[in-house]
Amino acid sequence: MFIPLSDRVGYVPGGTNIGVIRNDDSHVTLIDSGLNDTIARKVLRSVRDELGSEVVAILNTHGHADHFGANAFVVKRTGCEVWAPAIEATTIQHPVMQPAMLFGGADPMDALRNRFLLAEASPLDGELIAGKQRFMGTDIELVALPGHSPNQMGMLVDGVFFGADVVFPRAAIEKYRLPYLFGLTDHLASLDVALTIIASAVVPGHGPHAESLDELVELNRETIERTLDCIRDVLRTRATSDDICARVFTVLDVPVSDAQGYFLLKPTINAYLAHLDRIGDVLCEIVDKRALWSRR
Ligand SMILES: [Zn+2]
Repeated sequence: MFIPLSDRVGYVPGGTNIGVIRNDDSHVTLIDSGLNDTIARKVLRSVRDELGSEVVAILNTHGHADHFGANAFVVKRTGCEVWAPAIEATTIQHPVMQPAMLFGGADPMDALRNRFLLAEASPLDGELIAGKQRFMGTDIELVALPGHSPNQMGMLVDGVFFGADVVFPRAAIEKYRLPYLFGLTDHLASLDVALTIIASAVVPGHGPHAESLDELVELNRETIERTLDCIRDVLRTRATSDDICARVFTVLDVPVSDAQGYFLLKPTINAYLAHLDRIGDVLCEIVDKRALWSRR
């Protein structure tokens, strides 16, 4: 079901929200494609039946399977172009990079080779660069929002801001407690950027659209502060990153019960540790062949 938010822009809500930009009466550009073929079929039907249009391009916000997993299907059905930010573009074309990154840079174990982490490879027509540009006849401002992923971009079109995963909705935070992050330092700066965007409506990657991102930025910041406090507290005594994971997941009541849950969040804890190291709060020493973290 297409939800219009301006004359030219709306979205199809779902597990991942799919942005729809009407370039003219017959052509649309999608922002992200969704997790799989089932979702893509729904989006294509909505574009054809409700708007009488065909998809001519997909702009991906970042290289996570739930945002680009249906690219290949949509391209096969429509012959559309695919554009994505650098780095994210690599993952989209070589999806094994996502589970490999989660698995410490190694050949990912089979438990991580599922559709949520390993999508079908997408073709790519070009890389997106931040800034204002005209794309398929429509003015679009690409806003760099790195942190959740290395080079995530939000998109401002016709007064509507598509924020990708710079924030997570309240329901997801209440359920998962600790949202995935690639880099905390960049992410904190991106939350500041998200607050400066002037838009009549905002569409996060997940959850309902809103008038602004202010409330969600505040909620996401609180979650980060709570996690930072928890890690600082754990590091009153020296600990390995595995020890830190176990303590933080327990204290914050993070629902980690399988390999996917664990390996998704271990890098997130590393992202926090890298940030704390960068601001001089913690120290990493190699002792007895183990990496031990402590407060400075
Ligand atoms: Zn994501």
